Amino acid sequence: MKVAALIVAAGQGARAGSHIPKQYNKLLGRPVLAWSVEAFQRAGVEQIAVAIDPAHEALFRNALAENPEVSAVHGGATRTESVRSGLAALADADIVLIHDAARPGLQPALVQALIAAIKNGARAVAPALPVADALAQVNGARIEAEVDRTSLMRVQTPQAFDAATLRNAYALAGSTSFSDDLAVVRAAGVETQLIPGDIRLSKITYAEDHDLLERLLSSERITCVGSGIDAHRFGPGDHVTLCGVKITHDRGLIGHSDADAGWHALVDAILGALGEGDIGAHFPPSDPQWKGADSETFLRHAAMLAHNAGARITHVDVTLVCEKPKIGPHREAMRARTAEVLGLPLSRVSVKATTTERMGFLGREEGLAAQATATLDRPA
Ligand code: MG
Repeated sequence: MKVAALIVAAGQGARAGSHIPKQYNKLLGRPVLAWSVEAFQRAGVEQIAVAIDPAHEALFRNALAENPEVSAVHGGATRTESVRSGLAALADADIVLIHDAARPGLQPALVQALIAAIKNGARAVAPALPVADALAQVNGARIEAEVDRTSLMRVQTPQAFDAATLRNAYALAGSTSFSDDLAVVRAAGVETQLIPGDIRLSKITYAEDHDLLERLLSSERITCVGSGIDAHRFGPGDHVTLCGVKITHDRGLIGHSDADAGWHALVDAILGALGEGDIGAHFPPSDPQWKGADSETFLRHAAMLAHNAGARITHVDVTLVCEKPKIGPHREAMRARTAEVLGLPLSRVSVKATTTERMGFLGREEGLAAQATATLDRPA
């Protein structure tokens, strides 16, 4: 069963008091929209489309620069029209989840619970929370009547649907505008279901909601620093490869792969921050497929593991320790190659070099060593 998600992000967000629409604002350093995209991806949703205002195309691409696979569809004047455009882009989905971009606190477990409910036979299901405060019907500041809250619920998104049911309901809806998608299918006579909601799914409507949500979500992510060390012995050869850069030298480095100690240390640092063991466990030297391998493969694999874990590599720092070759002339090329492979701006990649003042095995030029750290922002 193909599961797809549509995130509605076409609003102007004027009430949130920001100069850019709230879905593109940063929440704990990441665009609001990116939070929901990541939650859907981690929950295993196969296709994601976002309904945007055509005027926000650049903001959208910038917010999801790390997720080129997420497509944009141009939304309409109302939420109902935006969803209708989005549904057309998800034509082969069996289950569709529709979510408001202004609810970035989405958790993968909730997405999975919604999908499970549809797989178990529900046709429309949404998360909802009870109302805790007393409710009053007012005229200005004057209360005119008390409202019984016991039969009221706060319905959130994402709302999940059997896709055929939802498409049919939208076909019947005509030009009527609805407040949410549960209302659209209810108008078509479909029975709906609620599951327990999540306080973190609160919608950012006013400026203070943004601050409150940052406080709620700050415990969801942690910063992890991983470290890695590697060394290779010099042997016959005419070049060494360090941090992806081939350097002419009167000797080579002995190793099962290309012996790029800089990137090997960096791979171990990334794996360390993820708690994913070491490079030897992922690319055993006993496996002939890694003989002479380009270490770019290892580094890309580590970056993919980080991405799959919902982590972001925020900074890396590699130190090469050797008397020769001289690293200085190649340092910027090494930074650039590392930044390119990891998809990081240059300012977040550091390559340094030092010697051991001719002491020890490195000083005697028996080999070359590298040390690296990787800082990752990842789910707690
Ligand atoms: Mg190595």
